[in-house]
Amino acid sequence: AAPISLVLATGKLARRGIVLKEAGALERLAQVDAIVLDKTGTLTEGKPTMTGISALNGAPSSLLRLAAAAEERSRHPFADALREAARRAGLVVPASSAYAAYPGKGIEATVDGRSVAVGNAGFAADRSWTIHRSLHGFAAEREAGGETIVYAFVDDACAGAFALADAVKRTSREAVDDLQRQGIRVLLATGDHPAAAGKAAAMTGIRDVRASLLPEDKAELIRKLQGDGSVVAMAGDGWNDAPALAAADVGIAMGGGTEAALDAGDMTLLRSRLTGISEALLISRLTVRNIR
Ligand code: ADP
Ligand code: MG
Repeated sequence: AAPISLVLATGKLARRGIVLKEAGALERLAQVDAIVLDKTGTLTEGKPTMTGISALNGAPSSLLRLAAAAEERSRHPFADALREAARRAGLVVPASSAYAAYPGKGIEATVDGRSVAVGNAGFAADRSWTIHRSLHGFAAEREAGGETIVYAFVDDACAGAFALADAVKRTSREAVDDLQRQGIRVLLATGDHPAAAGKAAAMTGIRDVRASLLPEDKAELIRKLQGDGSVVAMAGDGWNDAPALAAADVGIAMGGGTEAALDAGDMTLLRSRLTGISEALLISRLTVRNIR
């Protein structure tokens, strides 16, 4: 049977909305000296809104209509944002077919008999699509402000860009401060581009930032830190975080996250606030000290 102090600690955590899959996770948590945080949906609310459109030819609303249709089947927060923007604009969004998703890059589908793709610059590069130079100014300005740009391509030709903004959670700054005060090294790891990553890091006091990572790169970062002798926790919400959550010594899933993240994690923060991590860390350290 588990020592009584572990049982008590588990109850204490549960009252704070922190659920452990097994008691062993608490003992590993007490040893953690580095934490990797995902950005979208973990450090930020993960509910981006579309804040601007730059359409190359034709009305911005026609481009939004096509993009929202192509994103119909995607569960990515950007897809939700584009569909929501189309709904608010009162657009009638047509059905789409032949949907394909490219993790960390974008999506593609057939709309009105045309091939419509929405994704980032890396996605465009993979397909040898050129981002039209008249979009460079729009993209640079929005990215400097911490927003994210996704591009739209219709029948392999650049058609425009969308800007998306995602707010940092109110509790994230305090959580990062608490962790750093406890002597924990905090890193930000994201699939988003360096400017958006840098802005979120600056707003929360994180100094070590890794951007433009694919899901497997996040897991590789965890293994690298472990190779350097760290005991590593990883917090994330997306299916794209699942490999890293599984690789970490303690995987921490956000309660509002995807099934894949919840499955891969050792611990769940039901309230999706990162302050739960520093609380859990303190409790784990006190508990393990009592057992030993
Ligand atoms: P994060 O690590 O921040 O959670 P993701 O790996 O989910 O990010 O996505 C990385 C990037 O891939 C996004 O910033 C976006 O540019 C692009 N992307 C992924 N899915 C989509 C989609 N459905 N629509 C548009 N862009 C997408
Ligand atoms: Mg995420």
